[in-house]
Formats: sequence, structure tokens, C-alpha cells
Amino acid sequence: MSRLVLRAGIRPSGFSIVQQSRRFLATVAPKSSSSAPATRYDWSHNEIQEIYDGPLLDLVYRASTVHRQHHDPSKIQLCTLMNIKTGGCSEDCSYCSQSSRYSTPTKASPLLEVEPVLEAARKAKANGSTRFCMGAAWRDISGRKRGFQRILEMVREVRAMDMEVCTTLGMLTPEQARQLKEAGLTAYNHNLDTSREFYPQVITTRSYDDRLGTLNAVREAGISVCSGGILGLGEADHDRVGLIYEVARMPEHPESFPVNALVPIPGTPLEKNERVPHDTLVRTIATARIVLPETIVRLAAGRNTLSEAEQMMCFMAGANAVFTGEQMLTTPCSPWDVDKTMMGKWGLKGMDSFEQKNVARKEDAALRDSVR
Ligand code: SF4
Repeated sequence: MSRLVLRAGIRPSGFSIVQQSRRFLATVAPKSSSSAPATRYDWSHNEIQEIYDGPLLDLVYRASTVHRQHHDPSKIQLCTLMNIKTGGCSEDCSYCSQSSRYSTPTKASPLLEVEPVLEAARKAKANGSTRFCMGAAWRDISGRKRGFQRILEMVREVRAMDMEVCTTLGMLTPEQARQLKEAGLTAYNHNLDTSREFYPQVITTRSYDDRLGTLNAVREAGISVCSGGILGLGEADHDRVGLIYEVARMPEHPESFPVNALVPIPGTPLEKNERVPHDTLVRTIATARIVLPETIVRLAAGRNTLSEAEQMMCFMAGANAVFTGEQMLTTPCSPWDVDKTMMGKWGLKGMDSFEQKNVARKEDAALRDSVR
């Protein structure tokens, strides 16, 4: 680090290593993205494949450069995810412990009441999380009028805590998306999971186009889109490229792209799948960072299986958000205290709410609309 500090023209001083690293990061963090190449929406599959197939360290270096042009590399968004309605889902996603079609350790339970959810959100905020995401194991919300009203109240209350608020509730109609936006929803998560070609090997109860329909409804309602995938489903490299290609061609890129590493669950069809190699994870993150330069790339499920050094390589490759807290939906999560210690050691800080410009822009539009 000291050589880097000297090269950057900073005099050695009495600062600690962490302080020095913060100072160094501050010198390369962009003040604006005006010098960055324009974001593209016309990527071809081959172009993305060529990036993905490049020598790994060159790929990471290039991704890291793009990352620094568009984001403060010292910032990681801390997000906490809570399951507000567990199990009993009618869908057949072959990786999921919440599908009623498989015999798994996850037991079905009804939608939670509002207060325990708010309590969890307060705890998340007190621990430094700035985004709170609520997940319900449903195909869709149709016929769940009272449950949906309760979720709208949760959204309103969490947003009133000055946190970014996200939900993942299955398929949405345009009207449901509009009501969520009106309640103050910041983002909606609906993953494409994998490439269009490989998708039917993983899920048969809803189509790829169904998923894109929900993403369109979310986008039309003015809600930020969170959509990514899962690695380790049995897909090939060109499927990982295919997933990135699908979101890269959208008229507006998702504001968030989660990259999950499959956590095989006993009782699911994928229970015997092998852990995705770390270099594949890094390669996917780096490619997503280059192709989706303004997007937050979210290191999601499976992070707790990575060593600290492996996580840092993911951050170097452009990941800039994590799930932290007690649990993800049904899989283990790195706890806040472990993450805080790790981030402090490596000179990383948590992002503020609405620090991501393209998310804040949408929030500004909502505020403007509400005072009209
Ligand atoms: S991933 Fe979601 S939609 Fe699929 S089975 Fe699990 S809870 Fe249901």
C-alpha cells in the first residue's frame, strides 16, 4: 500500500494503514462519471462472451477500472433481507427450499404481522444496513388482498425509517406495482436466474417472458429494478453470459444485479450440485461490472462460504453490495459484526441510503409527484 500511496503523490504520514487506504481510495474515487465511457444498451452476446473469456486478472483490472469510473470503490451497500412469508410456494424452482413440491427442511408459515418486521428493520438500520428487503414465497399476489395491504403498510413504515425498501413477492401486475410505488417502495427484486436458453431446465411453472413482464411492470411504475441470477445451477459459461446479455439489452439496466452462488438444499433437485468455483464467480461479477457500469452488483447468497480474501477479490472485480444480518431468505448470512470487522480492516465503508445516483433519481421523481 505504501508504494501505491507514494505513486499517488501522497506523503507518508502518521496515518494508520486503514486511514492511508481510505486516503488512497479517495484519490481515485470519481467525483462524477463525466470521464467514463457512455453506458451501452446494444451489447451483442459475442462481445460479452469475449469479455467473459478474457484472462482473469486482466478482466478484474478492467472491471475495477470501470468500477472506479462510476462508483466510490470504498463503499459497499449493506442490505438486510427478511423472509416475511416462508415456504409453501406453488412454483417448482429447482434450487428452492420454499417450493411445496420438494421435501425440504423449510416449513411453511403464514405472512408475518407488521410489528415484528418493523422491529427487524430497526435492528438492521441500527447495525448499519441502509436497504431492507422483504421476501414472500408466492407465485404472485393475486387473491391476497389483505396480505398485500399488510405488505403495503410494511413498505410505508420501513421507508419512513429513511431506509431503502425492497420487496420480492413473485409476479406483479402493473396495478400492484403502482400501489407498491405509491407506498414508497424503492426497489423490486425479481431474478431472471439464468439465460433464456437454460431457464426451462430450472423452472417450468412460469416462463422467462413472465419474469420479463413483471420487470416491465416494475420499471413502468418507476420502481428500481433488482434482477440477477444464480450460479451453480448446472449452467455453462455461455448461460452466465446469456443472463448478463439479457439485462444488458434492456432499455434501462437494472439498478441492482444480484449474483448468487447456489447453496444446495437437501430435498431439492439440485441438492447434489457442486459449489460454483470462485474464479467463475469473479469472472461473472467482473463481466457484469463492465457491461452494467452504473448498476450495483450484489454479492448475494453463498457469500458466507467465501473466505475474506475471496470476498475481497469479488469487490475488486466490481461487487459493491452484500446481504448482511442474521439470515437471507432461507440460507445463512454473514453477520453484521463479522462484516463490520472485515470492512474496517480493508478500508471499506457502508453506503448511505439513496447514495446510488440512479436510485436516488427515481426517489426524487416520487417526491416531486407527491407534492404536485
Ligand atoms: S424461488 Fe420464489 S417462486 Fe421459486 S419456489 Fe422459491 S419462493 Fe417460490
